[in-house]
Amino acid sequence: MKDLVILGAGTAGTMMSNHLAKRLPDDWRIRIVDQRKIHHYQPGYLFIPFGTYKEEDIIKPIQQFIPERAEYIQQSILKVDADHNRVYLEDSRVLDYDVLIIATGTDIAPEEIDGMLGDHWHKSVFDFYTLDGAVKLHEKLESWEGGHLAVHISEMPIKCPVAPLEFTFLADAYFEQRGIRDKVKISFVTPMDGAFTKPVASAHLGHLLEEKGIEVVPNFNIMSLDGERKVITDYEGREVSYDLLVTIPTNKGADYVERSGLGDELNFIPTHKGTLQSKAKENIFVIGDATNLPASKAGSVAHFEGEILLENVMRFINGKELLDEFDGHANCFVETGHGKALLIDFNYTHQPVSGTFPIPGVGPLNLLKESRMNHMGKMAFKWIYWNMLITGKHIPFVSSKMNEAGKNFEEANV
Ligand SMILES: Cc1cc2nc3c(=O)[nH]c(=O)nc-3n(C[C@H](O)[C@H](O)[C@H](O)COP(=O)(O)OP(=O)(O)OC[C@H]3O[C@@H](n4cnc5c(N)ncnc54)[C@H](O)[C@@H]3O)c2cc1C
Repeated sequence: MKDLVILGAGTAGTMMSNHLAKRLPDDWRIRIVDQRKIHHYQPGYLFIPFGTYKEEDIIKPIQQFIPERAEYIQQSILKVDADHNRVYLEDSRVLDYDVLIIATGTDIAPEEIDGMLGDHWHKSVFDFYTLDGAVKLHEKLESWEGGHLAVHISEMPIKCPVAPLEFTFLADAYFEQRGIRDKVKISFVTPMDGAFTKPVASAHLGHLLEEKGIEVVPNFNIMSLDGERKVITDYEGREVSYDLLVTIPTNKGADYVERSGLGDELNFIPTHKGTLQSKAKENIFVIGDATNLPASKAGSVAHFEGEILLENVMRFINGKELLDEFDGHANCFVETGHGKALLIDFNYTHQPVSGTFPIPGVGPLNLLKESRMNHMGKMAFKWIYWNMLITGKHIPFVSSKMNEAGKNFEEANV
């Protein structure tokens, strides 16, 4: 019997267990490890602060999505010994493997910023990148009467890099609906030089921020937070004061990655960008947010990676050359408030530009344009996630590689 072990039963790990259960020969055993019992639909965290979703709308038991053929082990991972092909778990179990897939994602690390944690955490300083943070922020927003809301990104990379912008747009609409928008100043404080990482999308999104009367504070690299004075300070000594800070703390890969000597300074794992093989060992593959790839950390990216990773694991065990084909494809809906969203589609080499998706020239979704249809697409993503994405089913018309037809690439050159 040969052993394939998957670390992490979030978006990417669960999806890979389903893909591989259908393709691996019978003499392969599949085991999948996660510390949690419950799978979180993380894109739903965005809607919890505004009361659109409640906690119970976005969680389901992990076991429900693991195929019969795979053994699910609910346990914390302590260490990978890559030289001896072994994984050590917290309950002292040791798992030997022939092939390892790492899919342990990324989490927030507020302790990385001087002063971010303290009595003020989840009182005047909130995150919405955890279920607990999103639920507490909802309680705060319900009774908040106004003041200065600063939405803040600590450093890049973060998962779902558009989520802070979406939060800002939804907050603007939420305060308007509550009739207190004129009592709220909203600032978007970012280490980037504009609204987003990619120039064309940044211009479109920056324009929307301006229209909604949201101040942008660019190039702000946070050094510290003073919870008593309610001030954040950057490395140039600039200060931004707030009444309510909604921050995206530093994002880091799992701690065991550091203990295993497999990660970079943020515990992301050096990975070959086209094949998804780790740079450390040929029999270790990496998928999703755990990689150090210059692609977005998003569920859609994990989905596109999954199709190529499946082929490469099958090639690896059959002694064939790997496909060097992952192009960094990402596809993200950006909620803009009032029941509208825009959609962006990009990869390692192409910026998000306007056009149609998924069918060139037809749509029905418009790229880089606000529409109700795009918002409906965003809300439908929850169903697609539970029923197709993590169960490893192909999503019709959506290819793992970015389709270049029907897009206006000349925009990116002006
Ligand atoms: C607010 C928000 C909004 C988002 N919106 C979108 C969106 O609209 N569209 C989109 O495509 N993506 C979105 N994302 C991003 C998406 O959720 C992630 O990119 C995706 O979940 C990554 O999948 P993953 O499998 O790599 O990691 P995860 O799904 O995070 O899974 C990692 C798993 O590893 C486990 N794990 C970690 N360390 C250990 C350990 N030591 N021992 C055992 N288990 C461990 C964790 O418990 C977890 O279950 C959003 C994310 C957030 C936070």
